[in-house]
This record gives sequence, C-alpha cells and structure tokens, in this order.
Amino acid sequence: MAKIVPLFSSSRGNSYYISGNNEAILVDAGKNCKQLELSLLQNEIDTKTIKAVFVTHEHTDHCSALKVFAKRYDLPIYATRGTLDALVKGEKVDKNAKLFAIENEVVLGDMRIKRVSTSHDASESCGYYIETADNRKCSVVTDTGFLTADALTALKNSNAVVIESNHDVEMLKNGPYPFILKKRVLSPTGHLSNVDCAKVLPLLLESGVTRFVLSHLSQENNTPRIALDTSVAVLNSFGAVRENDYTIMTAPVETNGKSVIF
Ligand SMILES: [Zn+2]
Ligand SMILES: [Zn+2]
Repeated sequence: MAKIVPLFSSSRGNSYYISGNNEAILVDAGKNCKQLELSLLQNEIDTKTIKAVFVTHEHTDHCSALKVFAKRYDLPIYATRGTLDALVKGEKVDKNAKLFAIENEVVLGDMRIKRVSTSHDASESCGYYIETADNRKCSVVTDTGFLTADALTALKNSNAVVIESNHDVEMLKNGPYPFILKKRVLSPTGHLSNVDCAKVLPLLLESGVTRFVLSHLSQENNTPRIALDTSVAVLNSFGAVRENDYTIMTAPVETNGKSVIF
C-alpha cells in the first residue's frame, strides 16, 4: 500500500517512511538511531521493508541517525553527488557505507525514485518524487527557499505531497533568532514560509493532489495551528472544502501514529 509515515519533522530532526507495495524507503534520517528505531516500532514498521535511505542534504537534522542506522541495517544511501561528498567529509556516514549518487532516477523493486532540485544553503540539496507500482505518486520537498521549476512539476504530478511550511514570517521577524539566522531563513536558499507554501496549494489541488502534509515546521517561528490555518484559508478562498476535496495535516515533531495513504 502506498503510504507516507512522517516519523519526525522539525528543525531538530526529519525522517519520512514511504512505502510501495513490497518495499519502502526512508527519506532522511534525523535524530539518532535509537529514536528512529523507536519511532519505527511505534508505527509497527518492520525495518526489513526499508530498502534504502534517500538523503535530501547534509544538514544535521536530516542525517544525524544515518551513520549508525544505515550500518546496522546494511542499507544503501542515495543522495546527490554533492551531498554524498559532504556526508563523507563530515564523517556523517560510515567509511564502508554503500553510497550511490542519484543522477536522475533509481528503481528499487516496485518503487521509482527521482530527485528534484531545491534551493538551500547546502552542497547540492534535493527533494524526491516517488512512484509506486500501482502508479501512486508522492513528493517530498522541504528545506528550500523557493520551489524550483522541477520541484513544482513533481509536486503537481503527485497524489500526496510532503511540503515545507517552515515559518510564519511575522513570528520569525519578531522572534528570538539572531538577525543573521533570520536573514538566512528568509533568503532564497533558506526555508519556505507558511504563505509561500499555502499559495501553491490551490494549483496542486487543481493538478490532482489531494493529500497535503505540511512539514519542517519551525518550533520557534511557527505553530501547527498557524501553518494549517494559513493553508486552509487559501484553499477555502478557492472554494476547496477540507475533508471533501482534500486532506491536510502537519507532520508532527515526533510521530503520533498518523500516516497518509495515497
Ligand atoms: Zn532541515
Ligand atoms: Zn537544511
């Protein structure tokens, strides 16, 4: 069954479990191995179903569990060439890790995974577009200052999307972050705001996306309520009715057992 389980999501740790019929992958492996294992256990996920870890970029919140987890379960790691180089340089992977640069697409059993570009202050960050055997499609696009053309295409072609809704701009501006960090988050290589996320959702809905997972919410500069209200208000203004026309949730900081079937 095509399913997304948002295991962790925040500036402190990110990981998504995405399954097809027979196989599954993880997109990112934040937190630490023990927390990741616990999260998988809480969701009754058999680690044997996981065939690989796909990494979006080398920032700690996306790969701090990677070294131990990939080694323990003997999993290949896929990422862009630039991200792999950064992971090796930062010793964020084991020296014997099975690393594969994803050029365009990878086929793993009944899943087909493509990378899409993101705009972020990392070596060569990316998002992922995943197709399952029964022709179900989802995208994971987070950590991006804006949506690149190919990320937007992937999102539009999906049934379900995990999309960044990082911050409320006013909360960020008036919040505790130092000026330099505020500037970084707001820059074209920073993070997608609630409004930037919300304004693309009607276009996605029109293209056939019916499952939205708002993700990578800042714990300092956002709340699940504000992120949801911002997106739902924009969709409402286009006449779309929540639960009738689409479902929407915020990815929890740590799993709460919710998943999205697509
Ligand atoms: Zn991040
Ligand atoms: Zn990042």
